[in-house]
Amino acid sequence: MYSIDNNGNLITGTTVILLVSLILIVIFVVNSIYFLENENIDSIESDNFKYIINDYKKNLEQIGKESLAEETEKLYHGHIIHDSRKEVKKILNEKLKKTNKDYKEKYGVDIRSEVISVESTDSPWKVLFKVRIKVDKDSEQYDGIIESNSSIEGLNDPLPYAMLTAYSNINHDDKTIYYFESLSQYLLKHNVDSFESYILATSPMIIKKCPYDPYIHHGDGNTLKECLKNGYFHESADGSCYLCRLEGKGTCPHYGLEVFIQTHTPLTNESVSCSDHVVFHDRYNGKKLNKWDINSLILDESHAKKYGLSYNETG
Ligand SMILES: [Zn+2]
Ligand SMILES: [Zn+2]
Repeated sequence: MYSIDNNGNLITGTTVILLVSLILIVIFVVNSIYFLENENIDSIESDNFKYIINDYKKNLEQIGKESLAEETEKLYHGHIIHDSRKEVKKILNEKLKKTNKDYKEKYGVDIRSEVISVESTDSPWKVLFKVRIKVDKDSEQYDGIIESNSSIEGLNDPLPYAMLTAYSNINHDDKTIYYFESLSQYLLKHNVDSFESYILATSPMIIKKCPYDPYIHHGDGNTLKECLKNGYFHESADGSCYLCRLEGKGTCPHYGLEVFIQTHTPLTNESVSCSDHVVFHDRYNGKKLNKWDINSLILDESHAKKYGLSYNETG
């Protein structure tokens, strides 16, 4: 203790107390910020609580994918999508509300969720979802952002329907899209030479990752034949990503996909190269790999090179 024998000491004493308090407050605040920033699922004490949050994260992967599927389904029923990220966000928010209710019943936890973003990623096969959740159970709390990468494999390709909605003459079965005359009409409208080559063209509907990687091996043996039979999709810097495909963009700044649109035509003159980003955006010409095969791909030289394919002039 110190004695107060004049005004000077009183002021010094008060100042010291204030300073110490201030230092303590600063230490407390810094510690709190540090703690908040470093808080993650691992810092949660109870295993049960941790389990619930991890379980929610796992579910997000699936629910995110279902939201994409639902949005794509709208396209297949004639809707036009202007902002796919915003619309998928809306669908996901609704779905999570239901999930939160399920968790309340199942685990007795209160969850509030808000989708922060739906994003393209470095991989064209994944879409990233970020969701902020606040979880309360008894005395425990979690407030943080959980992320999940959902695979687009197994979903329908949005691009053909996004591009050709105005031409009603397009259909599909459980794995193939049939363009009938819609694609050739679309190409005629965009002044493509020999648009007739694309009458009755087809393309795969379900997104499946081509296993023949590196792609240059498509020229070996039956590889191209197998790839076309299975309807595989390929990575492509020029092709568009899933979220941009929903908006009817044949190309975009993100790393994307490309698929061959297969023609079934006896015509042999040059027409637009059959990679979908070329058909729906870049529109440069290619020629048949095999003139005499009505099912031959129409391909430009740089794509033929990428896939290790050569032109068979003699048949
Ligand atoms: Zn392939
Ligand atoms: Zn994109």
